[in-house]
Amino acid sequence: MYAQVIVDIAHSQVDKIFEYSCPPDTKAGSRVKVPFGGRIIDGFILGVSEKSSYPPEKIKPVKEVFDELPALQEECFSLTERLSSRYKVPKASVLRLFLPSEMRLGKVREIYKKYAKLNDIAAPISKSAKRQREIIDYLSTREECDYTYLCNEFGRGAVNSLEEKGAIAVEKRRIKRNPVPEIISEENPKILTYMQGNAIESIETSPKRVHLIHGVTGSGKTEIYLQIIANEIKKGKSAIFLVPEISLTPQMLSQLRARFKGEAAIIHSGLSAGERFDEWWRLRSGEAKIAIGARSAVFAPLENIGAIIIDEEHDSSYLSETSPRYSTVEVAKMRAEYNGCKLILGSATPSVESYKEAVEGNYNLVTLPERINKRPMPEIVISDMRKEVKRGNPSPFSAALREELDATLKSGNQAIIFLNRRGYSQKVICRDCGYVAKCENCDVSLTYHSEEDCLKCHYCGTRYRMLPACPDCGGVHIRYSGTGTQRVVEELSALFPASRIIRMDNDTVSGKDGHYKILSKFAKKEADILVGTQMIAKGHDFPAVTLVGILDADMSLQFSDYRSGERTFQLITQVAGRSGRADMKGKVVLQTYCPENYILRYAVNYDYEGFFNNEIKIREATYFPPYSLICRVMVTGEDDKKALDALKGVYFDIEELKKTNPKEFIFLNKMHSPVKKIQGKHRYQVLMRLKSYALLQKIYAVSVSRTTSDVLVYVEENPTNLS
Ligand code: ADP
Ligand code: ZN
Repeated sequence: MYAQVIVDIAHSQVDKIFEYSCPPDTKAGSRVKVPFGGRIIDGFILGVSEKSSYPPEKIKPVKEVFDELPALQEECFSLTERLSSRYKVPKASVLRLFLPSEMRLGKVREIYKKYAKLNDIAAPISKSAKRQREIIDYLSTREECDYTYLCNEFGRGAVNSLEEKGAIAVEKRRIKRNPVPEIISEENPKILTYMQGNAIESIETSPKRVHLIHGVTGSGKTEIYLQIIANEIKKGKSAIFLVPEISLTPQMLSQLRARFKGEAAIIHSGLSAGERFDEWWRLRSGEAKIAIGARSAVFAPLENIGAIIIDEEHDSSYLSETSPRYSTVEVAKMRAEYNGCKLILGSATPSVESYKEAVEGNYNLVTLPERINKRPMPEIVISDMRKEVKRGNPSPFSAALREELDATLKSGNQAIIFLNRRGYSQKVICRDCGYVAKCENCDVSLTYHSEEDCLKCHYCGTRYRMLPACPDCGGVHIRYSGTGTQRVVEELSALFPASRIIRMDNDTVSGKDGHYKILSKFAKKEADILVGTQMIAKGHDFPAVTLVGILDADMSLQFSDYRSGERTFQLITQVAGRSGRADMKGKVVLQTYCPENYILRYAVNYDYEGFFNNEIKIREATYFPPYSLICRVMVTGEDDKKALDALKGVYFDIEELKKTNPKEFIFLNKMHSPVKKIQGKHRYQVLMRLKSYALLQKIYAVSVSRTTSDVLVYVEENPTNLS
């Protein structure tokens, strides 16, 4: 037998199939160790055959074949073909996505445990062997027993001699680490509302492949997902359920565990390497049928998939920021096609791209315009911060927000205060000369963190001592500008000394269940106010929250990015959606310096359609996505000159493309990236706006050919982050 092997080296020069001879029962999809260039390295068997196209004496044998059940399933091969040509990456780097990294690096092994039980045929035991008799007595009352326990209790000698006599049988079995703690609560399916029932019926009967659920916050989308999954499981199928960041939503996690028990495998960053590995095998072996997780779970090793669900489909975490830079929705579409199954996208604020598809009839659009039990949407009031400043209010809170906070705390309810910046203040500026403290490795200003009394770089994490004086002019008038989460907490404590305040951002969240601790404290009402960044905007359901304060609603409007309006609308709607989810009416105070902005108008009225119709017209008139493709070719390297040379090369190649396709280009230029340096690497970019996807593959080819060992060149499609 011969095996066609892809070696696990992500390099375009070895991105081809190598042939090795292999044992007769070798299966396609298995991982192998093979001799390659004088070393032994890992590889993947893509196929096996009886015959080889090479002379036999030139073929080396594989060194070792892993896994009785091949790690890779049939579908991986076609997906690998499609993705490696779509994103111009070596097949090995796509194949890696299908496996938990623990498995590739060989850091984690299966764990085995020994069990002992009585044999059917009794063996003679002498009267004096008291210990051995005790063991027989002990085992006669149970099916089997942990071997190690038996040895510890009765002595290894006695256990061994019973085994030698054939009185007991010892068996070694693979066991799985169990990341799912004991489930305390039972969770039953809810009785569907009329709207929810309709939504499920529409999805199950529509002939369309892709479905978009546009349901306001609190409209009960989660229950729809869960019942669709349950229906597929009943039919003997499997399902994938993706959420933006599962460790941020512990409530969702426990609900899923309680509902699906061992049938669900939950893959999230809080798991240990060993747990992730075992959860992966539970899916691959068919023991678990539901894969739940963030972006990477779209590659879950399931067969016979009945539904793929992407919750909060607009979320930017669904775009991979490392190579291959895939779009999760796109991969999910490929898998849905392969499996002939449904793809369900859901959001209260669908991305403009997805909603356009739905409006044009390419997706089945399901709308849930009301909250469960007709609960009203929380009223959003705007605080004009320009007026506050004129009135001499120096605090980060408007008078209206202070009043509402006061009333909320008095009534024993909870509040959430949202802002986009962590740390204490945004910038540290010398008032005498205008010096701004910056990171040495990255071209960004540092943020002051009062708790540790230090300056931090939010790009690379480097800490710096607080400046006693300006390093440029020696002046001592150092000033902080902008307000961060830490400062908000400080000011809130001063205003409401009796209230209990917790903060959630990248600084307070650490460790395996950092999110969980903070959120469950808040859920148990052990705190009155939760202050946080984006992290608190996503999907939480706290029934006692009746007030949400948005401190800097227009922060994201200041970025000169075509998506800033869309992002602002999404953020306001999502954060506001945390208020008044149970029986009590909710309120939202939205602070802004530009209250007349049309995006805020739509957001205040929960008018998604109004927002969309306006936005899509602007995009069409100005040729922005989805009416064009924004493409950024990034060029980064430690050596500034080499990076700059590569940039020129990339630009030259793309200008050549432009010569033959002048009409494709709306915009083309090369420049420094807005952040000129990150972690010691210089950053340049070629930015272009293209009429269509026609030239995209050629641009990917440029990036591959211009990459060297010193300079990395990569392509981003409609990047969400242009820093
Ligand atoms: P969404 O995901 O659309 O924001 P959720 O799924 O969180 O909304 O639902 C909002 C609230 O309504 C939750 O507290 C949920 O438990 C409750 N809920 C959902 N469906 C039902 C139902 N059929 N009957 C009663 N309560 C429901
Ligand atoms: Zn830095």
